Amino acid sequence: MPLLHFDTHENDAFTSWIDDNPDGYVVNAIRSQLVGDRTPVPNDHVLHRASCRHFRDDRDYTGTRIKLAGIDHDSVIAGAELLHRATPRTCGACTP
Ligand SMILES: [Zn+2]
Repeated sequence: MPLLHFDTHENDAFTSWIDDNPDGYVVNAIRSQLVGDRTPVPNDHVLHRASCRHFRDDRDYTGTRIKLAGIDHDSVIAGAELLHRATPRTCGACTP
């Protein structure tokens, strides 16, 4: 099951994807503020449903946080563990 990454300047692609895949899942991970360092910070990884209300205003969701997205719950978690080296905690609002 393919996973998608959304990074800086990909907010339009991200919001299109969650609109098209409301049954999907998204890991939201803060990126280091250091210029050029794209290593996600462990332990700040949160798994959401794509339909989570946290993604429902017109903010730039990819400004400081990268996204790992997919439609299969277990694949998204496995991807976060492999690619981000972190097990995401679950969002309390959407309880994925
Ligand atoms: Zn959520």
